[in-house]
Amino acid sequence: MMSSQISPRLSKSRFVAGLQCVKRLYLECYQRDLADPIDPSQQAVFDSGNAVGELARQRFPGGRLIEEQYFEHSQAVESTRKILTDASVPALFEAAFTFERIRTRVDVLRRSGQEAFDLVEVKSGAKVKAEHIPDVAIQLHVLEGMGIIVRRAYLMHINTDYVYQGGPYELEQLFSLQDVTDDAQAFMSEVMPSRLVKMWEVLHGEEEPAIETGPHCMTPYQCPFYGYCHQEATEHPVEELPRVSSKVLDELKDSGIGDIRGIPSDFPGLTPTQQRVRDSVAAEQPFISSDLASRLREVRFPVSFLDFETFNPALPAYVGTRPYQVIPFQWSLHVRDSSGQLSHESFLNEDSEDPRRAFVTSLLDTVPPHGTIVVYSGYEQAIMQQLAVTLPEFAERLLALCGRTFDLLKLVRENYYHPMFHGSYSIKSVLPALVPEMGYGDLEIQHGSMAA
Ligand code: SF4
Repeated sequence: MMSSQISPRLSKSRFVAGLQCVKRLYLECYQRDLADPIDPSQQAVFDSGNAVGELARQRFPGGRLIEEQYFEHSQAVESTRKILTDASVPALFEAAFTFERIRTRVDVLRRSGQEAFDLVEVKSGAKVKAEHIPDVAIQLHVLEGMGIIVRRAYLMHINTDYVYQGGPYELEQLFSLQDVTDDAQAFMSEVMPSRLVKMWEVLHGEEEPAIETGPHCMTPYQCPFYGYCHQEATEHPVEELPRVSSKVLDELKDSGIGDIRGIPSDFPGLTPTQQRVRDSVAAEQPFISSDLASRLREVRFPVSFLDFETFNPALPAYVGTRPYQVIPFQWSLHVRDSSGQLSHESFLNEDSEDPRRAFVTSLLDTVPPHGTIVVYSGYEQAIMQQLAVTLPEFAERLLALCGRTFDLLKLVRENYYHPMFHGSYSIKSVLPALVPEMGYGDLEIQHGSMAA
């Protein structure tokens, strides 16, 4: 749909999209269907955010929810207008406003005295981040434009020091309120005016703005149009250089270099790892360090290949745990003996009880008493160290397992590179390059966060 056919609107989410990139804003407004599909882990984050948002309302007893959906904005504005005049209602949830074609819904609008309100933006994260300030600022802009007096603006987030004691959550402790009024007002006066001008210009334009891809595509969030914008990228874009800085990227782009194969061998500023990647890709050959064979000889039979699956709920699920505490609930163990024979054991918690004790006891009963324990990253070791603190009666045996681990990720990162890694050492990238007949989907456990 062309922008000339409709009268564009902004919203809080579109404003935030436009701050990241005006092309993203344009696409959000006119070609939303080009966005990448939402994967299950993203959906889980959205669902968790919704659960936190609903719980947060309970911190404001007597508040009234504006029930209309987002696509019923005009009706929501009308409902808000009516309830705002009722001084007996201490807070409104999802209050709806429109000012100069900018629509917003406010998570919590709390009455503060006779004529004024406090604005509360709820975040399911553990702390206030710089990118949250514009969320608040655009709401302040709309509310002030509509003549609503806002005394203070707050970000409400999860307090990770809270320890769940069972029963209903203690909401005063579970949530923290941080006053961001000054930061939001500074953003409103210093940054917002020029950014809004640019956004309206783009939204009234006929063409998708010509914006090159770059670090902004991942900052502060991965852009939903990442796939669309990168589909015609070269086979080995320079962004694949591991931990490449914006400075080096700018220098490469200024030199007209978009593909790693075009980087001269003596290009200044590359780290040793980036240089290795550049050389491997340019030669179309894997890099194999001279230390690789001797490092592999450290592995002792029987070799245990160990993998954990965990979850870390925003809202603690078990007594004695904190928000976002990592809880292991599944392990998978393949054991190869010196004759080459492979066996497999696993554990999966299938009830609603705290799985940690059963996880630990089954693991300790199953892992062979000697031999190397191969892991991919330091994750399994970190989990076992945490469990040693939580369940001290098993600490000695858990720490003994930690002492036998061999980190395959570290080995690969330091000693091997294949052009098919495309700059990533995640198992999802490494496995198809090293074992083409096996895909990520063949793994017993697919780490949600770790495989990403
Ligand atoms: S992928 Fe990058 S260039 Fe494309 S819309 Fe998103 S931020 Fe802009």
